[in-house]
Amino acid sequence: MSDLLTQEIKALQAAAATTEARFEFIDDFAYPSGVQMAVNFTADFDAMLLRRLLKEPPMQLAQGEFGGRVGIWRLIELFNSHDIKATVFTPGRICELYPKAVAAVTANGHEVADHMWEHQVPKDLQLEADHLQKSTQALTATAGKRPVGTRSWHSQALLVEEGYIYNSHGTAHHRPYYVRDKDNANCLLNIPFHYAIDDAMFFSFAWLASENAAQRITEPERVMDMWWDAFLQQYRQGGYLNVCLHPFVSGRAMRIDALDKLINRMKTLPGVWFPSCEEMARHCLENYPARGSEGVR
Ligand SMILES: [Zn+2]
Repeated sequence: MSDLLTQEIKALQAAAATTEARFEFIDDFAYPSGVQMAVNFTADFDAMLLRRLLKEPPMQLAQGEFGGRVGIWRLIELFNSHDIKATVFTPGRICELYPKAVAAVTANGHEVADHMWEHQVPKDLQLEADHLQKSTQALTATAGKRPVGTRSWHSQALLVEEGYIYNSHGTAHHRPYYVRDKDNANCLLNIPFHYAIDDAMFFSFAWLASENAAQRITEPERVMDMWWDAFLQQYRQGGYLNVCLHPFVSGRAMRIDALDKLINRMKTLPGVWFPSCEEMARHCLENYPARGSEGVR
């Protein structure tokens, strides 16, 4: 082997080792007694903010408006009717647009978590810090409780500094795990989600600016069948499922109906836990703290 190739392989191996060192999986993870599996129902309350950011046409923006005026209320009602504690990831600016809905989330016992100030993270570090503070303050004032979770690209140093205990963003494992930043510091719990369990992937035109050919509107029953299969597969191994919904997508009556049926089906099995992401995070942090933190394993 040439020296150059040996050097390249060594560099790759070193890069892989550095990345590997940033993740800490919880190999001995277990649920509280009597629980076989947790399902987190989460809703990304984007309304029209993401649509604006992607410069989508007016009808797409109008869809977002439906989410803020109707969809979010239907989801709250659905979760209440099943005694599910859901987590609503909310951009700070939503507090200016739909303050009553944000307040209703916590008033009904659900969790309001951060989803960036305007659904984007500025590259400039100072501006990023300003956005995170603004979002945290707006959510605290409107929801009546300081958020401890986020679904965002914010840097971990800032999140830890602002008192966040988890992010729900990565997909490196099917169960919660810890991530450190590239300096191997600022450890944060990640509660993973997965695009295959995300309503927008199946019920949206041009999602994430995809081309016409990629447009799709799937029948609700077909999607619920796929999610049921994913649920069952996780249930058998004591796994975890994070269902990612959007009020402007799943807030449509036919999809609320389908979700209602899916939840009823999940409830036919014993030991299914529907906590908020905060409850899930606290279970992990208290029972399986990261290496090097207090209460080392
Ligand atoms: Zn979003």
